[in-house]
Amino acid sequence: MSNNGFKLRVSVDQDVCVGAGLCVLSSSEVFDQRDEDGVVKLLQAYPDESLYEKVLGASRKCPAKAIKVEKIADDVDPQGTQP
Ligand code: SF4
Repeated sequence: MSNNGFKLRVSVDQDVCVGAGLCVLSSSEVFDQRDEDGVVKLLQAYPDESLYEKVLGASRKCPAKAIKVEKIADDVDPQGTQP
């Protein structure tokens, strides 16, 4: 899906996550927490654009700044399967 020629790539840093869980509250489609210690698990690195608002909110709210959201060109193929 196109969004003005860009899409968002999400990544998380499990080393700095403090397990506050705010990201999961913001967007449970994209983030989950490990059962054992509550550390964040990323469910999708390239969420649908209908989730962008929530993902950006989660990134802003994360107390540990563990969520990185990058704007990348829409023609980047995450699987590397484009010719
Ligand atoms: S909001 Fe940040 S600190 Fe809290 S679980 Fe999510 S990534 Fe970890």
